[in-house]
Amino acid sequence: TVRVRFAPSPTGPLHIGGARSALFNFLLAHRYGGKFIVRIEDTDLERSSRESEHNILESLRWLGIQWDEGVDVGGNYGPYRQTERLESYQKGTEKLLAQGDAYRCYCSEEEIEAERQAFLAKGELPRYSGKCRSLTEAQEEQYQQEGRKAVVRFRVPEQGAIVVDDLVRGEISFDCIGIGDFVIVKSDGIPTYNYAVVVDDALMEITHVIRGEEHLSNTPRQLLIYKALQLKEPRFAHVSLILGKDRSKMSKRHGSTSIVNYREQGYLPEALVNFLVLLGWSPEGEEEIFSLEALTELFSLERVAKNPAVFDLDKLNWLNGLYIRQTPIERLVEMAIPHLQEAGYVSKSMGEEEQNKVQLMMQALQEKLAYVGQVKEYGPLFFDEKVTLEDDTAKAHLLAEEVPLLLQAFVSKLDDDRINEPASIKKILKELGKETKLSGKALFMPLRVAISGQQHGPDLPYLIAVLGKEGLLKRLRQTTE
Ligand code: GLU
Repeated sequence: TVRVRFAPSPTGPLHIGGARSALFNFLLAHRYGGKFIVRIEDTDLERSSRESEHNILESLRWLGIQWDEGVDVGGNYGPYRQTERLESYQKGTEKLLAQGDAYRCYCSEEEIEAERQAFLAKGELPRYSGKCRSLTEAQEEQYQQEGRKAVVRFRVPEQGAIVVDDLVRGEISFDCIGIGDFVIVKSDGIPTYNYAVVVDDALMEITHVIRGEEHLSNTPRQLLIYKALQLKEPRFAHVSLILGKDRSKMSKRHGSTSIVNYREQGYLPEALVNFLVLLGWSPEGEEEIFSLEALTELFSLERVAKNPAVFDLDKLNWLNGLYIRQTPIERLVEMAIPHLQEAGYVSKSMGEEEQNKVQLMMQALQEKLAYVGQVKEYGPLFFDEKVTLEDDTAKAHLLAEEVPLLLQAFVSKLDDDRINEPASIKKILKELGKETKLSGKALFMPLRVAISGQQHGPDLPYLIAVLGKEGLLKRLRQTTE
């Protein structure tokens, strides 16, 4: 059976790229009735934190990417945090040392740095020179007496090549010579990523490793370890990098990189999932709108592209907008409230009246918003007492001869208690048209401008309903004085 994993390092929030890897793994597991595992790779003790781990897991849950095994949920292959698995790595290290596939290296940081510089000076890629490759026991003892601490390095073959057979990229060959003996256990006994990942993937019986292209150059190192430990290798699939629209590496300039940011701005997780899957995968037909459910039946690695995916925020906004139009109003209201509270447009306690206003506001804006956080921009329009005419063209609409009578007739109808409901306001406007013999733009434009100061905006009856009689009168006084 298919067993796949997402193995984040908890050194920061969940990013777009990580979320996409998690999603692809999740989808593959579901497509083939397999298992999806979340393992925390926290061997970088300094940079890892429980807070980041929590953030990553929360973001995954929010996206609807559930895991079958892993931290929080358990499973038969635990523990699922690398710092809790040190014993498994120790066993492997002993084996590698005994076989001669690894050795202890006593070089100091300064010595390593000097080597690095020497390689660079020669115009070569820096790598370990192999100085400690064949120390005698006496030399090792000597170093230990000097108080030197040892790391464990993997002995990379001096010649030959390692071929990565990648499900997305095909066969890629790496020359052993450029690799250099790399550290697998640090001097504090903690394994490095390249080593721990192999032991874990093998022990957890992972069948497919789907991860970002930035890890492709790690794969030959990992393959060497699989071989030395006689472990069964998984299949690899390296998913392309995510670039910004200008084709440089995706960064904050192109849009937020962390998932939690999108959540905070009021994006819908379903839309984000839909967007993420299209970063590197493409469906067969023209259709681009897919639920997570539907994707679990469609996703396949065959349709994952080799070339870089381009992060297009406009496309995300477009997609999210589509999802907003189909979202039940109650959910949008719930999402909008914190934004409006934070900006001070509604109170923290939120009585029924305010609740109704937000609902009316969201009904009017459902057609317009790209993400719910945009409601704040409409706060002044719906909630401020103050209004200013946007420009001279707006002003001109109020100078037409028939306007004073129109507004007067409008005000006289405000006494009606039908004013709180868009449907009855529509009727009021209809009556108003009949009485004044105005229709279309001639009727609505002066009203809109007098109420909002603007020539464009959300559906008028909703705006009127939110403002209520008091609010309307205050505004008309300002625009017509
Ligand atoms: N801990 C690695 C990362 O976060 C995982 C890479 C992998 O999937 O092997 O980049």
